[in-house]
Amino acid sequence: MAMNNDYDLSLLTPIKEQLMVIARSGLTGHAFLFSGDDAFSDAIFLAQCCNCQTPVDGLACGECDVCRKIASGTFEELHIIYPEKKLHRIENMRAMQEIVAKKAIYGQTKVFIIVNADLMQEAAANSLLKILEEPPDDTVFILLADSIDKLLPTVISRCQVFGCGSASAAVIDDNEVKKLLPQAQQLLLSLPQLQCWQVLLKAKSVIGENDKQQQLHYFTALLWLLVSSIKGEQQLPFSAEHALKSAMMMENAIDYIYRNINRKILTDVIFLRLWQNALR
Ligand SMILES: [Zn+2]
Repeated sequence: MAMNNDYDLSLLTPIKEQLMVIARSGLTGHAFLFSGDDAFSDAIFLAQCCNCQTPVDGLACGECDVCRKIASGTFEELHIIYPEKKLHRIENMRAMQEIVAKKAIYGQTKVFIIVNADLMQEAAANSLLKILEEPPDDTVFILLADSIDKLLPTVISRCQVFGCGSASAAVIDDNEVKKLLPQAQQLLLSLPQLQCWQVLLKAKSVIGENDKQQQLHYFTALLWLLVSSIKGEQQLPFSAEHALKSAMMMENAIDYIYRNINRKILTDVIFLRLWQNALR
């Protein structure tokens, strides 16, 4: 694999590592949600990855004209949206929508970084949701948020969620995970037959029946099954691409549980996205 010698892997943040997996798998997306101390610089890096003239392994070189312009904040198609007086108002989103509707000038990817996306009026959040539902091809949105549980679940579900933080602190007991495999497998196999409300009922029962530790085991069981389906060892109702997307999402979800995110919202969103992925 050709790697730029100047590319220092030790400088990779957890989000950059995850982006690398995505770049190598050839997956793309229009909306991303980043949290963590390095979220802003990771967003700049993703903006570079979308527009780099000489990418290395699908990732930004950091040295071409465009990468330099993005780093210095002078790239025409990079739009950074800050809250005003600690709030994103609907006017902000309307102004963004106007730029979204225009074609990128240089045939490149327009990147919108929404700083403190968790500080959003309800009307603004709904307006953002509409934009995320029908993103133009040449556009990428990166939401930065400290408190993910303050975002609308419907907005979160439109985004690929990337977090930071280490998962090493808590203990996963493999035997406990194995006990949950049949239940997790049954859920994944049943997804294509379920209606939306039934998916949410399943999510509710998972929250009702499991404490944080048990839920970690349950989500790990789901992750194991998805990974074994990618390897071809397991028949699940997912294409290879969507099994991979789902596995990465479960990895993030496990990380969020470690970090004590609101488990109710997380579980609703995860189940709905698994369901959507299974229908594709
Ligand atoms: Zn570059």
